Amino acid sequence: MSVRVRYAPSPTGLQHIGGIRTALFNYFFARANGGQFILRIEDTDQTRSTPEALEDLYSSLNWLGIDYDEGPGKDGGCGPYIQSERQALYREMADKLIGDGTAYRCFCRPERLEQLREQQKAEGVSIIGYDRNCRGLNPDEAASRAASGEAHVIRLKVPLEGKTEFTDILLGRTGRKNKDISPDPVILKADGFPTYHLANVIDDHLMGITHILRAQEWIPSGPLHVLLYRAFGWELPQYCHLPMVMGKDGQKLSKRHGATALSEFRRAGYLPEALINSITLLGWSYDDSREFFTKDDFSALFTLERINKSPAVFDYNKLDWFNGQYIRLKEPEALKAELMAILVKDGIAANPPSQKDYAILEGAFPVVRERLKTLTDVSPLTRFLYTDPGLGTIGDAIPKGMNNTEAAAILGTALELLAKAPPLPSTPDACVSWDKDREEEFRGTAAGLGCKLGALMQPLRLALTANKVSLPLFPAIRLLGMKESLARGRRLMDALKQA
Ligand code: GLU
Repeated sequence: MSVRVRYAPSPTGLQHIGGIRTALFNYFFARANGGQFILRIEDTDQTRSTPEALEDLYSSLNWLGIDYDEGPGKDGGCGPYIQSERQALYREMADKLIGDGTAYRCFCRPERLEQLREQQKAEGVSIIGYDRNCRGLNPDEAASRAASGEAHVIRLKVPLEGKTEFTDILLGRTGRKNKDISPDPVILKADGFPTYHLANVIDDHLMGITHILRAQEWIPSGPLHVLLYRAFGWELPQYCHLPMVMGKDGQKLSKRHGATALSEFRRAGYLPEALINSITLLGWSYDDSREFFTKDDFSALFTLERINKSPAVFDYNKLDWFNGQYIRLKEPEALKAELMAILVKDGIAANPPSQKDYAILEGAFPVVRERLKTLTDVSPLTRFLYTDPGLGTIGDAIPKGMNNTEAAAILGTALELLAKAPPLPSTPDACVSWDKDREEEFRGTAAGLGCKLGALMQPLRLALTANKVSLPLFPAIRLLGMKESLARGRRLMDALKQA
């Protein structure tokens, strides 16, 4: 059997980690089995679907390089792949169920249903839902009321007795008693739009979907879907509900934990490679040790057997670590181009960049590259090389436990050391030893003064960069040039004296 799987998002919000995890698992499962990955847009809830969400979906998949084999704009014979364009089909299929006696028309007015809900709430019944008032209507009478234009919905007849179960690849046999399933849920709404359940089941069947890999929150819908498959007389696909995605505190991952939307990560300077690697490891592992996987690796290695049952934890620090690794693996010229684009966007380099802008980045590149956690870090790390940042927050320059006079004095000592340093080197090897020698000198001097090396370096670092986030001090001095470094140092020293 050839594998056909789908990602079926509802375009009601931004693509977030959980949704992308579902997309990636489906994508890699298809790739690893030589199958097809289908994208289907589930926009039957017209009030909640938005063009922005749809745009975000396409651009997110595109940015990650997740290409679908069939979907909007790529017909594989099962289209259209956008549910709002398949409306006539759902109505036809719902009518078929009415004809078969497994669904029925319901003419109850919204006001009646509202009243019923209130009454059930007051009585404290265990399942709030429809009282099956129209289930016993004569079908011919119902048909003629519908034909005369009376507003109605179509409901599925849920059996009153027994149990509906299905087998989940990960969780085994699961299901619930029919009396615990929502009583006769609506499958086609009064406006002619199907509900999620009807459209989802029809499309999965007609699109030949073999495996349903989706979030665990859909498990409760499973029995209802099984009943729909049975009503149509169709074979069930295989189900695999994916483990929950949590934050480190064991709560469901949400905005409280940090960014969750893919677009936020993208804007913050994360690479698609790092996100793909981190997100695919949410509930899937190859073995106990291997962590690095490219898209091609996952495409070759992904199996359902290696999905874990237990909830997965999204670790932001780990993502940062992956991102740093992937940044350093990037082809240098391509990386420089991306960094320059960020410098331009942040107004640090000119648009288009000047020769000087390029030269600064070129010089700083080897040091900067080692320090980047995200691409956008390039701006705070190198801004001081492009423009004079001024004094910044003077307090940041004062080492812990010192006052401003002491800070001025220690800065004076650091500047004297610099003024005596040999001329700036030009070859990479000479730079390494120049930095090392300066550090030795600073270390020795700090020891002599009875202070920490960090305390001797802090005011000088702040003098150059006016920023607590910065490049290592000695490379920063070389990149800025000795004259400018000394000038910025003296300026801060004066300011500290006067503060
Ligand atoms: N449209 C549903 C969602 O957005 C699809 C659920 C499913 O995969 O069946 O999650």
